[in-house]
Amino acid sequence: MTTFLGMPTVAPQGVGSLHAEQPFPVAARTALGNTQLRHNIGFATQTIRAKRAAVVGELPDWEQLRLAGEAIKTDVMARLPELLVQLEERVTAAGGTVHWARDANEANAIVAALVEATGAHEVVKIKSMATQEIGLNEALAEHGITAHETDLAELIVQLGGDRPSHILVPAIHRNRAEIREIFLRAMPGVRPDLPDDPPQLAEAARSYLRQKFLSAKVAISGANFAIAETGTVAVVESEGNGRMCLTLPEVLITVMGIEKLLPTFKDLEVFLQLLPRSSTGERMNPYTSMWTGVTEGDGPREFHLVLLDNGRTSVLADEAGRSALHCIRCSACLNVCPVYERVGGHAYGSVYPGPIGAVLTPQLTGVKENPSLPYASTLCGACFDACPVRIDIPSMLVHLRAEAVRAKGMTVERTVFAAAAWTMRSPVRFAMAERLSRLGRLLGRRRDRISRLPWPLSGWTAARDLPRPPRRSLRDWWRNR
Ligand code: SF4
Repeated sequence: MTTFLGMPTVAPQGVGSLHAEQPFPVAARTALGNTQLRHNIGFATQTIRAKRAAVVGELPDWEQLRLAGEAIKTDVMARLPELLVQLEERVTAAGGTVHWARDANEANAIVAALVEATGAHEVVKIKSMATQEIGLNEALAEHGITAHETDLAELIVQLGGDRPSHILVPAIHRNRAEIREIFLRAMPGVRPDLPDDPPQLAEAARSYLRQKFLSAKVAISGANFAIAETGTVAVVESEGNGRMCLTLPEVLITVMGIEKLLPTFKDLEVFLQLLPRSSTGERMNPYTSMWTGVTEGDGPREFHLVLLDNGRTSVLADEAGRSALHCIRCSACLNVCPVYERVGGHAYGSVYPGPIGAVLTPQLTGVKENPSLPYASTLCGACFDACPVRIDIPSMLVHLRAEAVRAKGMTVERTVFAAAAWTMRSPVRFAMAERLSRLGRLLGRRRDRISRLPWPLSGWTAARDLPRPPRRSLRDWWRNR
């Protein structure tokens, strides 16, 4: 697919939180040196993993559910243009307004103009990956509008002047003592003797946020799902802050990636089983809010739905990589990933960390922008096993690694592999190479393996040993039998 609703595929502009300040290997090395971070993340991921395993194990039809989720999402991607038009029609018919944004700049400009039209200088926000992706809070600040995050973990990140490090638990890298210190420093009206006791920390946040909910005229949300058949938008969350944002303010603006569609209301049944079990390890999501346009006397009087592309049509155009758009942001792949568990989310330099970030970020920005991310994996396959919609992340990582190599042009690595391929294509050349390789026996005599090779092969031995070539090749052995 090269066009989307008659438009060319769209790559995002350099705005928002997809562009890393440092390549992954550099950032990961720094993160590995932070023992507190490793301890916090190790503890949190182990806990969520155990909860998830317990509730997934209860369902005898878990694999069938995963297959159903995969099939629905595959169908959505095959019919995305028509389903989006259907969604627009249904939302408009129900009294909402739909806006189309090609990239972060357009989406931010639309939201800022909508907020300015209300005369508000403050908005309340539900945790949303799409708005983080486009850097909406920073863009609104340029217009003199303050966005208050209302999800507890997101609030901790915002008050701490920090960046999220996990899709579901953005402050996973902080412990309770650090959170207390952030509240004392940055949350107005907190009592100075606030202890680092979790219920009391939550109570402090609740009192602070209550004022924001009651005074805000405008709320901004993301969306977990949108139903093309009915025009219904759904947000799932655990704290009830989302329900406050979705019902109290006069104006509601939802920014939604175009891939979040489901064809029919019935499809939601599958995802409302898959998502809570995979994300928080719960059987049922605590707060599931759904709304269709606007309703007289109930909830916001104005509803705006901003449909965000920001590189998604380019991902859709790539047949080998488009299933990354199936992601429902449950974060199960993060919690099982041995790389994520050791380096945490910041090392990925993107709003999308972990295995899904390692594929989605380079896909959204173009692999040239983030060439090191596809290598942020051991390819162990745990992410595929955990993914509720069966995204084959390991295969996509390999696909993106090939793209990254192609994008680099002729490198030493490519030259060496091209020479190896040329040698292996001819039995004569291969036999000669085998004989020549025996010269390598001069190296590594002491330990029977080679720990250091001269340039250009030094890159190989920088991270691993090479077995010493055998005295006799398989062909020689065969010939002599
Ligand atoms: S890739 Fe799969 S496991 Fe990872 S966040 Fe997305 S849906 Fe969840």
